[in-house]
Amino acid sequence: MTQDKQEVLKTYFGYTGFRPGQEAVIDAIVSGRDVLAVMPTGAGKSLCYQIPALMLEGLTVVISPLISLMKDQVNALRESGVPAACLNSSLPPGEYGDTVRRASLGEYRILYIAPERLLKEELRRFAETQPIPLVVIDEAHCVSQWGHDFRPSYLQITEFIASLRNRPAAAAFTATATPKVKADILSVLDLRDPYVLSTGFDRRNLYLAVQRPRNKQAALLEFLEARKHKSGIVYCSTRKTVEEIHELLLRRGFAATRYHAGLEDRERHENQDDFLYDRKPVMAATNAFGMGIDKSNVSFVVHYNMPKNIESYYQEAGRAGRDGEDAECVLFYSGQDVRINRFLITSSREAGDGRDEALIQHNLELLKYMTYYAAGTGCLRARILSYFGEAAPNYCGNCSNCRTRFDSVDISLEAQKIISCIYRLKQRGRSFGKTMVVNILRGGGNEKIKTLGLETLSTYGIMADTEARRIRDILEYLIEEGYLAVKAGEYPVVESTGRSGEIVFEKKPLSMMLPRESPPARTPPLEEAAGTADSAEAGFTGGSGAFTAGKSFEPSGSPPVPPQPLDEALLSKLRELRNELARQARLPAYIIFADASLRDMCRKRPLTGEQFLAVFGVGKRKMEQYGGAFTALIREHLSEVPINQSRS
Ligand code: ADP
Ligand code: ZN
Repeated sequence: MTQDKQEVLKTYFGYTGFRPGQEAVIDAIVSGRDVLAVMPTGAGKSLCYQIPALMLEGLTVVISPLISLMKDQVNALRESGVPAACLNSSLPPGEYGDTVRRASLGEYRILYIAPERLLKEELRRFAETQPIPLVVIDEAHCVSQWGHDFRPSYLQITEFIASLRNRPAAAAFTATATPKVKADILSVLDLRDPYVLSTGFDRRNLYLAVQRPRNKQAALLEFLEARKHKSGIVYCSTRKTVEEIHELLLRRGFAATRYHAGLEDRERHENQDDFLYDRKPVMAATNAFGMGIDKSNVSFVVHYNMPKNIESYYQEAGRAGRDGEDAECVLFYSGQDVRINRFLITSSREAGDGRDEALIQHNLELLKYMTYYAAGTGCLRARILSYFGEAAPNYCGNCSNCRTRFDSVDISLEAQKIISCIYRLKQRGRSFGKTMVVNILRGGGNEKIKTLGLETLSTYGIMADTEARRIRDILEYLIEEGYLAVKAGEYPVVESTGRSGEIVFEKKPLSMMLPRESPPARTPPLEEAAGTADSAEAGFTGGSGAFTAGKSFEPSGSPPVPPQPLDEALLSKLRELRNELARQARLPAYIIFADASLRDMCRKRPLTGEQFLAVFGVGKRKMEQYGGAFTALIREHLSEVPINQSRS
């Protein structure tokens, strides 16, 4: 092992710090352990195996399902000075053979291979001669028939790994994993004592929104009008809608393109490239578009129609903001979408033999949760995270419901009532779980309350006028803030803490973000929802397992930091230079430099190579390749603009 991971991170990729989960995965792989890493799109999975590949002796093989994805990754690696190549069916025979030959000579550190190629003779021969310390399985959910991207060719991976002389470490990565899919990955790939990591699904930089436009076309035009120079995807449920939207956008002068399975291969490729290279920054597409599209500067994803489940929605929406910049995910909801999805799910019944009934029910259930997302009034992020089985505060501050349906509410009085109730119970030597406490406060009359004579408590029924959901929200907030605590035991109970007195005796004022009590009038008619209307209205809270709603509560987070004023003139010059270099290199602009790197250049104004190396995303290779051009431009700019002016 030649270099440490921190050094590799800066030298090749130009970054100074790791993102959550990256270090742990890198360490595990380098120590020779198998890994399963579940990390959301944009979390930075690639570096988790690319860095070990550069630290280990020999060649790392990466199995990846999509040609476009491989191409993109290989381009980005080469730009960063990492010798890499790919083997897939798109290569002309000569180039294919040449790549195999050079790989045998040890010229590459990383080789991407399509799963269909794995068991081909020439590859096996070559794999027998090469030291391969690591096999990476990208998009590992493709091995699972429960996932939405099952690929039979992925089943060959296990055999391939087993056929290698010294069994290498196997590292599987995916952004989608329900427990079922996860279990499949572990068993099908035969991972041995793997290090399993799940970083959580939250992506703070995504603003989540649901709109219920009366006229979707008008709403879309308005949305795009306000984002003229940004790149984004508009997902539609059918080819026909894609065509309509594409035409509409062209008529209105947007540089838009289209993608669906009904187009010829050649056109699909061209359109995809137009989008990737920002020649046509808006893409209208069906869900056939996107997997393996690594475009990091997608700044919005609009769903013109509601997808059939939250998993698909989040994966598609998650293609926004991979560069970590603020990005928007907007769902246009209408009851029509629910009906169409229902129809699509149940129509297989007609043809079917009844065997699929369980699957149909399962899919209807998933549609129901999607509908709760679209029609509910609670925090959208909390809804998504709880779907994936993650605890989440019920207020995120960065979704359309939190921004429009929550207010800062004075809860001093409610807090006093709740804590007093806990005190009274304690005086009687009793403590209960949250549900029971809420029940007592509301004056509920269940058996237990009667048997224990709790109606005689002075705090019994003192919150009879408040909704149970709201009391629970406040109760959870008090726990979160340490004014109360949950004590684990046979079953968890709520107890007072050393800080409870601040509320009841010192009468400390308290406020929190809470949903408005009367829902806005324009909530869609809920018969449209696939499930029972009232649970969608109230914010779905019932159920067990993966679908329980988020429990904890976060006080209103820090307000978004206003962007620092930048020298816009310089920024646009830098952007022009970057785009020109990208054209010359025939690469997408973001592979040369992300916007974040250009902004950092504006801030740091590097004039020497060494200063340039300090810029975000600049490694050794990019410094050598592009440092001269950018520092010259910056120098020229500074000589034209008086310093005090350019600092503004
Ligand atoms: P994923 O495969 O998980 O969707 P990627 O590997 O494509 O995500 O990474 C998304 C973006 O984040 C890329 O532009 C990558 O260069 C960047 N990135 C990854 N790790 C870091 C890091 N530690 N610091 C800064 N940027 C990072
Ligand atoms: Zn929210």
